[in-house]
Amino acid sequence: MLIYCDNKSCKKESIALLDTETMDVICQECQKPISNVSEPMKRTLKSFGQIVRKSIKRAFMLLCRSCRADRVVVLDQNNNTICEECYSPIEIHPAFKIAVEENGGFKKINTQDKKTKKKVKRAK
Ligand SMILES: [Zn+2]
Ligand SMILES: [Zn+2]
Repeated sequence: MLIYCDNKSCKKESIALLDTETMDVICQECQKPISNVSEPMKRTLKSFGQIVRKSIKRAFMLLCRSCRADRVVVLDQNNNTICEECYSPIEIHPAFKIAVEENGGFKKINTQDKKTKKKVKRAK
């Protein structure tokens, strides 16, 4: 739902999002709260789920192609993003990686620790 931003520097319509903690509606063009949004409108936004999604969760999950499931992404000793279950590399966008790190970061593991079981060496 498009909402008109009344900030002087903006005056654009955007899919503004309701911050459910502060009950401010945040313009997605200028990232500032929009003051002229009525309470009923805010409730409507909430019921539509047009709200600010806070917090990249600490356990950060992405689809692992090897597991074919959403897995927790962790950092290995080489700072690579990998699947917590199978240690397959999971590629994420560098900017996204930075965003996660700013929000608490990835869990770190050392893949050398666990790979003791049966490491199948491929014959040449
Ligand atoms: Zn704006
Ligand atoms: Zn996996």
